[in-house]
Amino acid sequence: MNKLQLFNTFTRKKEEFIPLEEGNVKMYCCGPTVYNFAHIGNLRAYFFEDILKRVLLFNAYKVNHVVNITDVGHLVSDDDEGEDKMEKGSIREGKTVWEIAEFYTEAFMEDIKNLNILQPSVWCKATDYIKEQVEMVNCLEKKGFTYSTTDGVYFDTMKFPEYGKLALLDIHGLEEGKRIAFSEEKKNKTDFALWKFSPKEKQRQMEWESPWGKGFPGWHIECSAMSRKFLGDTFDIHCGGVDHIPIHHTNEIAQSESCTGKQFVRYWLHGEFLIEEKGKMSKSAGEFLRLKTLMDKGYSPLDYRYFLLMTHYRKKIKFSFDNLDAARNGFNNLKSKFEEAYKLSDGIAAQDLSAKGKEYEENFANCINDDLNVTEGTAVLWEVLKDDSLNPAEKLSLAYKFDFVLGLKINEINVSASVEIPPEISELAEKRKEAKSNKDFKSADELRNLILEKGYEIKDIKGGGYEIKPKS
Ligand code: AMP
Ligand code: ZN
Repeated sequence: MNKLQLFNTFTRKKEEFIPLEEGNVKMYCCGPTVYNFAHIGNLRAYFFEDILKRVLLFNAYKVNHVVNITDVGHLVSDDDEGEDKMEKGSIREGKTVWEIAEFYTEAFMEDIKNLNILQPSVWCKATDYIKEQVEMVNCLEKKGFTYSTTDGVYFDTMKFPEYGKLALLDIHGLEEGKRIAFSEEKKNKTDFALWKFSPKEKQRQMEWESPWGKGFPGWHIECSAMSRKFLGDTFDIHCGGVDHIPIHHTNEIAQSESCTGKQFVRYWLHGEFLIEEKGKMSKSAGEFLRLKTLMDKGYSPLDYRYFLLMTHYRKKIKFSFDNLDAARNGFNNLKSKFEEAYKLSDGIAAQDLSAKGKEYEENFANCINDDLNVTEGTAVLWEVLKDDSLNPAEKLSLAYKFDFVLGLKINEINVSASVEIPPEISELAEKRKEAKSNKDFKSADELRNLILEKGYEIKDIKGGGYEIKPKS
């Protein structure tokens, strides 16, 4: 089995993964801002991190996995201007910010569970660790990295010579672009808020005392402070979506390394975006697709997981219902293939593998260890299920092993509990039954074809009933 290689954004290279401490991995992933529901694009980021974690576990590492919940201080604009997203959500819904945070955190947890994403070791809420954030700002102030303006305490990015390395930023180019508007009082365009003061004229719902006055933390400081608290000054892996590279993660590095004087993170991993026909999926545009929307349309959350498995995490995915339908058909076929093996082996998985079985196992491990290529890994699962030279008990055994990484809940498929039929398909089948009883055979045939197009076969049985199963 090849050693695990991961693409490190910092070096722009695939590197062999070697953790600081043998056998143990310390990993921090930037979590949701809980001012609204997560859209299916956001969930792609957590899916990619789940795959990363499962691959680490497959490689027999223990993983200390920390995810934050941003419930304060994330401003609408990345330039430290505008409203706090949480306060904005509160006004929109006429609830307190605390209620908003609780409601959307719960909704997020439900999405995570539905997508079969493993729970992290620690969920940490920004508002529970204000003291640690204030301490870090204090540390930066003592070391001379900060300055104050009328609206907050800022990090002076020119004091950190390595600033922008992760994103390959041309800071001098940015400096020349100073004419682009940014706060008059900021010394450099790239400087960012560590602590923002509450406005004098109104009381914020979330605000805390600090050595610099009443206010709230800047968005980036929570990740520096909480990752340090749970994982130490230097840890192995930090991840998030690609949008975090130029600002959020760049600023995290500046804060953490200036405060501790040590390397912050050894491997940076970033997941690409899910896009729609019309471009980037975004909450500010108002309309967005949730996992629940897909479920209401009759898709299972695992259909969406299978859809995500079809593309490597460093490539963009274009979402469309046609593409999702194609993935669902593929997944249904995979389940049928698995069921065949299950029936033939009486549901008993092989204890030992043949030479051929071992070869497949090795192929699978090599795919996922090559920078998390689960798309190729899924293709190996297909090969296994189709290979009639393998005995069915071996197919089962390999499918269960691979599913530890793929997370498609293959162990929950069994012949007695046949595949769940989406409500949309059942409705079409009922309409067809009605058309037949009205002797409207043309409509009945059209409905049969429509059901077939959606990936299901309908078979009439004696007495006017029918059976539906995924198209084989
Ligand atoms: P937010 O809740 O807005 O802070 O975003 C949560 C996560 O979703 C972050 O890691 C983002 O990088 C990621 N993200 C946002 N939009 C998309 C998208 N369209 N596709 C994939 N990931 C996204
Ligand atoms: Zn973060």
